[in-house]
Amino acid sequence: MTSFPVLLNKENIGEFLASNDTFMFDCDGVLWKQNNIVHYVPELIKHLRQLGKRVFFISNNNTKSRRQYLEKFSRLEIEAKEDEIYPSSYAAAYYIKYVAKLCGKVYVLGAPGLVEELVNENIKHIGSGPDEMKGYDIDLVGSYDLDPEVSCVLHGFDAYYSYNKLHKAINYLLKDCVHFVATNKDMIFPTDNGFVAPGTGCLVTATEISAKRKATVVGKPETLLMECIKHKHDIDPEKTCMIGDNLDTDILFGNRCNTTTLLVLTGVSTLDDVQREQENCQFKNMKLPHFYIKSATHLYDLIK
Ligand SMILES: [Mg+2]
Repeated sequence: MTSFPVLLNKENIGEFLASNDTFMFDCDGVLWKQNNIVHYVPELIKHLRQLGKRVFFISNNNTKSRRQYLEKFSRLEIEAKEDEIYPSSYAAAYYIKYVAKLCGKVYVLGAPGLVEELVNENIKHIGSGPDEMKGYDIDLVGSYDLDPEVSCVLHGFDAYYSYNKLHKAINYLLKDCVHFVATNKDMIFPTDNGFVAPGTGCLVTATEISAKRKATVVGKPETLLMECIKHKHDIDPEKTCMIGDNLDTDILFGNRCNTTTLLVLTGVSTLDDVQREQENCQFKNMKLPHFYIKSATHLYDLIK
């Protein structure tokens, strides 16, 4: 059986800091919960910089562009630069432009932040925003005029996701040559009011089932976001720590990228989830972190 992750504490923090020169933070559930900052996060980031460490922020949230993220960092008084911020909206535009090298238009199911990243890369797009309803009667739902220039369906979180949009998406996807890209597949996201909100994964999965096709995912736990960072920065995974709140995305991503992984317990995953993962796997479990700690606040307490 794989060993249980190690609690980060006064005894091991020195070696932990010495062996990592780069820290990659997931955002929601680590730095903040929606609009509520986790205590002492600005101080933690500042202190890591003072120790000569580099920091990056990587998020599966695809509703914001890097510019919009920077505004949020500024509002929460967390020191950050745009080229330290890597949301899956940026990864999607990067993938379409530089990895798949697609021409033509993108049919987007997503928010303005995702569209902004496409525009930054001069990628033509259609479909964002609300779609007109044809009516409740199934007899009224007929064919749509599909744009023959569409070469990709890009699926992010779309608060205007609807029957019409699903109808169009699956008909574009009837053609094998049309690419199917998803920003991420997080099924839920925690809110700061105790409710659980359905995430991008709920919508993407519905479209996948209807289209009988699987999307190429660009967000965590896939490793493209690491490629995006490496495209701009020299980074050694063996001296990097990925800090996240989700075993299925952040921790699996970090382990796949060969970084050290640290779970914080202020978001999606709990110690019970860790225990379950440990019991369910006889061999090395890629969803198990090397270390865990209660919160980013506790990490600041240890290193200050
Ligand atoms: Mg998170």
